[in-house]
Amino acid sequence: MQAKDIAELLNEPACTHNTKSKSGCARPKPGSTAGGCSFDGAQIALLPIADVAHIVHGPIACAGSSWDNRGTRSSGPTLYRIGMTTDLTEQDVIMGRSEKRLFHAIKQAVDGYAPKAVFVYNTCVPALTGDDIGAVCKAAAEKCGVPVVPVDCAGFYGTKNLGNRIAGEAMFKYVVGTAEPLPVPAGAQRPGITVHDVNLIGEYNIAGEFWNVLPLFDELGLRILCTLSGDARFHDVQTMHRAEANMVVCAKALLNVARKLQTDYKIPFFEGSFYGVTDTSMAFREFAKLLNDPQLSERTEALIVREEAKINVALDPWREKLRGKRVLLYTGGVKSWSIVSALQDLGLEVVATGTSKSTEEDKARIREIMGEKTKMITDGSPKALLGVVKEYQADILIAGGRNMYTALKAKIPFLDINQEREFGYEGYSGMIELARQLALTLQSPVWQSVRKPAPWAKSGVPGVELGA
Ligand code: SF4
Repeated sequence: MQAKDIAELLNEPACTHNTKSKSGCARPKPGSTAGGCSFDGAQIALLPIADVAHIVHGPIACAGSSWDNRGTRSSGPTLYRIGMTTDLTEQDVIMGRSEKRLFHAIKQAVDGYAPKAVFVYNTCVPALTGDDIGAVCKAAAEKCGVPVVPVDCAGFYGTKNLGNRIAGEAMFKYVVGTAEPLPVPAGAQRPGITVHDVNLIGEYNIAGEFWNVLPLFDELGLRILCTLSGDARFHDVQTMHRAEANMVVCAKALLNVARKLQTDYKIPFFEGSFYGVTDTSMAFREFAKLLNDPQLSERTEALIVREEAKINVALDPWREKLRGKRVLLYTGGVKSWSIVSALQDLGLEVVATGTSKSTEEDKARIREIMGEKTKMITDGSPKALLGVVKEYQADILIAGGRNMYTALKAKIPFLDINQEREFGYEGYSGMIELARQLALTLQSPVWQSVRKPAPWAKSGVPGVELGA
């Protein structure tokens, strides 16, 4: 990838803060790839496409350090769970045989697993030695008769965020528009109801959470052509150009795809979230508005009234348990505001939120939801986080798995909110799971026990330090 292509990706016109410096949403700093390089970002965005063979072209550590780090679920094929890499060594570089290895790796993947397509992720080493992965992919596609898509995302190009965009760009350039959707099945046709095709961009189906929302789409007569990329199939991505409306679920990741679908195929889009009762209802309303179908609007309002009434009754006992609890939220991107809204729906008070990986839009949304004086944290070091917990008297830290031990060592209740989690929180019913997990950790008797002085400290056993 050339410098001008990277500059073009960093210049995202759909970003309302694009008049600022053209360094993307987060300016790369030395060491910033430790939080995920471009390759990592591209792989995260595309790996959930379940019937594709994903080959990492590079030394084995690139694949080994990042493979399958997202708890995304598939309702069918599991090919995406198999880690594939060309495993380049010094010998391959010295002997100039890495392109050959890539060609054979693609052939092996096709022969062994019969994937619907192969995605090849470029990494730093072959990018530096000048491998032409585009040419290899083209030759392999001709030889194997399967689409082979190059994703030129070497880690040194920039941050994880840039990698997300590179992934979106690759889909738009090589995949979107290459096939037509199947007709709506007879079983999904109902008299008097027009079925509308829509896409969800940036929905990753973590822990299967999108399946909380999917039945409501079916009920409304909205057919999801593609969720880029949770539980997606290659054919779904090929047909994205036929949708009538798009929802961008994670603003940061794939906004460029939504914008290009709008400019090239005239598909309108909006940004939203399925975390929280308010935001879930808002997402359905936005679809009805964009699709401009009065009957759909009517059905949507009726569904919202029914679902909100049902969920509010179910949530009331949980709200009693959680009301007034103070939360420090340290996560990134869209979750820095969408989870705030879900927590507020449950009656919790968010005292501060992390913004180190948030875009300017995310920050504006946080101010809108939490007020201008909101404490935004950019320093995610254990010391800084514990300082904020103490200063704001937070009852719980909600963050990614890597902060778990920070909280546990400080004897603070903790909830994992990032992609590795085991529980799905989307949609109306996801709120029950979120409330349950919050109550389980906040009310666990373990906190009282570990905060008490140790038994030997009381009994004064000689030779044992007090409070050890
Ligand atoms: S692509 Fe580059 S920065 Fe990313 S993991 Fe591989 S070597 Fe590291």
